[in-house]
Amino acid sequence: MKEEILSKILSQYKVKRDFAQKEAEERLRDLRKTYPKLLELDDKIYYLNLKISKLAIVGDDGSLDALKAELESLKKEKERFLADENISRDILKPRYSCSLCEDTGYVERENRWVKCNCLINRLIEETYKKSNIMDQIERDNFSNFNLSLFDSDILEGHDISSKENIQFILKRTTEFIDSFKDKDVKNLLFYGNPGLGKTYMCTSAAKALMDKGHTVLYHSSSELFQVLSDYTFSRDERTKSSSKEIYGLIMGADLLIIDDLGSELTNSFVINQLFNIINIRSMGNKKLIISTNLSPSEIKETYGDRIFSRLVMLFDFFEFYGSDIRWKL
Ligand SMILES: [Zn+2]
Repeated sequence: MKEEILSKILSQYKVKRDFAQKEAEERLRDLRKTYPKLLELDDKIYYLNLKISKLAIVGDDGSLDALKAELESLKKEKERFLADENISRDILKPRYSCSLCEDTGYVERENRWVKCNCLINRLIEETYKKSNIMDQIERDNFSNFNLSLFDSDILEGHDISSKENIQFILKRTTEFIDSFKDKDVKNLLFYGNPGLGKTYMCTSAAKALMDKGHTVLYHSSSELFQVLSDYTFSRDERTKSSSKEIYGLIMGADLLIIDDLGSELTNSFVINQLFNIINIRSMGNKKLIISTNLSPSEIKETYGDRIFSRLVMLFDFFEFYGSDIRWKL
């Protein structure tokens, strides 16, 4: 991904971080105004610390132990004061939007500084801005899922109404999110005609998992196989290097959503790549959600037995049915 995108995002992170820190300082200032005793204690602690570090440089004149003991008792007095006044320690801490990296974008893992998942998601968001998926994710998520759009009538050929069906799918998708890291949790495959809420379910899951700090890559099927084709066949170095980064995410993001499988130009390249994606991701316990307008028998016919049997083994299939909800929105 381009360096300028990263540096743009990091400067936005700095603004967020500075804001959170400034806000915390303001809270502390207000608190000290309300409780002058707190200011007094903080001042004493500050000057004692200063004295102690000075002694560490010029050498102990015999008073170091006494000063340290005094400092400890002051700290305890402050703790007691905060507890007595019912002041939570949290109020003094900056409220970062990501508690993992404290809005720096980086976390330490095995003695190395690596990109925090929030930064990876921001990079994905910037790269795929053109597909407008982030707008959709902000707009369509579990918090505004509207069950009243679905019918309560039981349609012929089904045991439950489309409303009960969507409630069931909603429940299973929520379970998928709650036990996301669990190896035994199957991937999700949503199928059915357009306009029945499949994409809505996908974006809602994407939002919920991003909010939990997971990396999520969302691709329409045609975009996905275009990237893979660029990665495999392009001779242009720039296209190749940017698609290489995305290739890493296709295989390694915590969740990959393939929207509208079957809308791509299906050929043997696509079939092989899809097989690879399913296998490589499942080996690394990386989850997938696929949505498609194809029925299971059409999936089998289009992608062949080899893929179909992997899907049956590794996915839970959910059919979306009922009347088109789009005109009701
Ligand atoms: Zn973070």
